[in-house]
Amino acid sequence: MKVIEVKDLSFTYLNSQRPAIEVDEFSIDEGESILITGKSGEGKSTFISCLNGVIPHMTNGELKGEVRIMGMELKSTPMHKLSSIVGTVLQDPEAQTINYTVEEEVAFGPENLKLPPEEIRERINESLEITGISSLRNEVIYNLSGGELQRTVIASILAMRPKILIFDEPTSNIDPEGTNRIFSMIEEMRGKKTIIIVEHKVERVLKFVDRVIMIEKGKIKFDVRKDELLDHV
Ligand code: ADP
Ligand code: ADP
Repeated sequence: MKVIEVKDLSFTYLNSQRPAIEVDEFSIDEGESILITGKSGEGKSTFISCLNGVIPHMTNGELKGEVRIMGMELKSTPMHKLSSIVGTVLQDPEAQTINYTVEEEVAFGPENLKLPPEEIRERINESLEITGISSLRNEVIYNLSGGELQRTVIASILAMRPKILIFDEPTSNIDPEGTNRIFSMIEEMRGKKTIIIVEHKVERVLKFVDRVIMIEKGKIKFDVRKDELLDHV
């Protein structure tokens, strides 16, 4: 089953002359793990913002074409519905936390969904366990290390039980130890969720993905299975 399908997509920022991203045809199967790579400024972030609803719902510019997520046209899918389908972990975890303690942060999404209390509790426990931060449950967010903060953000996203997880250079602001923990977590979720990792350092994430997409000047330069990669670089 295809979880994401893109057709004739282009997006041009309001103050710009040419599209920041232009993709004719692109899809992702359920359970795939993919790497989206390319140099800075080539269009990676714009591309994922077209896939997670940020551009269709929140950014000014000209959007053309079609993005379907779980079969639904993204433009006409409300943002609150999307949070249970696709979750995005940004580069800067501080921009993604709004609560006082770790538990409050992780509970925030499920509480907004107005789920029954037992289910909220179950989702919190599960998400803290997967991210390895159960012991930080009552910790104040302000006191966390960069890696712990990033894991709190990931736990809060997992608590929404999204089918698709997008990581936009998730380890660019954390130390090597924190980086290893994030990647081993991604490794454990591999196959169970559809995972998109944006990273310019290919060697860092290659072992966690099945497929590699290179973006250059706003276009897909190549889209290959990992074992075909050597023929393209
Ligand atoms: P990345 O790490 O993905 O390369 P950038 O440094 O390109 O990120 O962009 C950081 C932020 O600045 C993003 O929110 C992006 O949308 C915004 N941005 C990048 N280029 C421009 C621009 N020319 N005008 C306005 N905002 C921009
Ligand atoms: P990457 O993620 O590969 O670094 P981006 O998608 O952030 O690339 O940027 C692609 C192009 O779009 C760049 O030329 C960047 O300056 C431009 N851009 C990104 N965000 C904005 C924005 N908010 N407004 C205008 N231009 C932007």
